[in-house]
Amino acid sequence: MQLHLQTWPEVEAYLQTSRGMILPIGSTEQHGPIGLIGTDAICAEIVARGVGETAGAMVGPTIGVGMAQHHMAFPGSVTLRPSTLIAVVRDIVESLAVHGFERFYFINAHGGNIATMTAAFSEIYAARSMAPAGNVAPIKCRLRNWWQGEGVGQIAKELYGDAEGSHATPSEVAVTQFAHPEAIKHAPLDPPIAPRGDFTDAADYRRRFPDGRIGSNPALATPEAGKRLYDAAVAGLAKDYQSWMAS
Ligand SMILES: [Zn+2]
Repeated sequence: MQLHLQTWPEVEAYLQTSRGMILPIGSTEQHGPIGLIGTDAICAEIVARGVGETAGAMVGPTIGVGMAQHHMAFPGSVTLRPSTLIAVVRDIVESLAVHGFERFYFINAHGGNIATMTAAFSEIYAARSMAPAGNVAPIKCRLRNWWQGEGVGQIAKELYGDAEGSHATPSEVAVTQFAHPEAIKHAPLDPPIAPRGDFTDAADYRRRFPDGRIGSNPALATPEAGKRLYDAAVAGLAKDYQSWMAS
């Protein structure tokens, strides 16, 4: 169930049964010559909605822009500074906490968000630790990447092996093809498997990875593979959400 499609009395009734909220977080950034700019936002949102349906949990608004400074040398990429993303996450969590939500399960689709999300959780906990005793309800946050769903890594390995890479991967492109078959793109990829390595800022990234991919061959993506990966991600994360809520 999506928060956007509820009324306030329905949210009030949900809070009688659960204090948990699932929050998708993605990014708006280049994903190579055939990957969509919205790849990470699309993957996070579709998996989160699936987990919400399977687990009977409410799914909050997608944070569709993340920490993507290293992609800024490619047109269409948008970034929040780490400090901005921390403020956004904190305000969303603290807004929902006002209403009685206590458990925030973030489903992430962008590796570049992880360090900043971890810092955001520390800010949230620090604010509560430093508040006068007894004035705040307990909050717990958890971050899971969609590809951490049980079995997802195994499918990716079986389908793509070394061509999975780490950015603009065939796995994430496949999930977007399953979500949006009308937006499947084709373009030559040279070399078929992109180079690997580290990077610092946007100019450095573009110099090392001229077409935007890292270590991947997304031409191997298919919508059918996307459905397999989606199903595994949803099943694995729904199980993880439910056991976390029960803990
Ligand atoms: Zn991505």
